[in-house]
Amino acid sequence: MNILISNDDGIYSPGIETLYQAASKFGQVFVVAPDSERSATGHGITISDPIKAKPVKLPLFSGYATSGTPADCVKLACGGLLDIRPDLVLSGINLGANTGVSVAYSGTVSAAAEAAIQGIPGIAFSLCTFANPLWKTAGSIVEEFITRYLKTKNDWPTNTLINVNIPNTTKIKGFKTVPIARSRFEQLFHKRKDPRGNTYFWMDGKIQSLDSREENDLWAVDNGYVSVSPVAFAATRSELLPSLKNMFTK
Ligand code: MN
Repeated sequence: MNILISNDDGIYSPGIETLYQAASKFGQVFVVAPDSERSATGHGITISDPIKAKPVKLPLFSGYATSGTPADCVKLACGGLLDIRPDLVLSGINLGANTGVSVAYSGTVSAAAEAAIQGIPGIAFSLCTFANPLWKTAGSIVEEFITRYLKTKNDWPTNTLINVNIPNTTKIKGFKTVPIARSRFEQLFHKRKDPRGNTYFWMDGKIQSLDSREENDLWAVDNGYVSVSPVAFAATRSELLPSLKNMFTK
């Protein structure tokens, strides 16, 4: 099996090393990832500039560091950079949760979404912390997840990715299949002055759940479970098509 790995924290991030180690147990692994951090770049692609792809040799693996976004990396890997077509695309392991509305902003999730668009199964992995990441624990969870996934993958529809969030604890209670929480970031901008006296803003914020369902991905990771959610790319709210149609018939 050919496995492509990408991420949004960049090819030099520790999370990609951990993912590489886990994935190598299941097949031949190829790495194409941004040359620096591209977190929260969503599903952007590069069409007005060239994309550079430089071969890099790291202690654990060799791969391509690109000047593009995570989605660019997957498109490029599937579109000529590699001699193979991946059978599976893994993204991450991201430093920081991709639960709730973060899924919309996440470059990590978008790399897996791009795989789904290409008709290749995609899985996004994130570790829910920014401090003291327990990579070893996360790596063993990823291994267990892939083992379980490979037993059932034939049942999966195309155009669907799986979003996995791992709580940063050694006392993980298990896996929970849950919906993505309805949520938003509270608006919080730090207003500061630069050395020349100009005002600038730095975005911050905490995710707020707006979800009344008892179990969702925010709830799962807060309670020590690995959240596992199926995510459809560009899902249509089919039940709203009739009311939208009304807009053009009256
Ligand atoms: Mn990131």
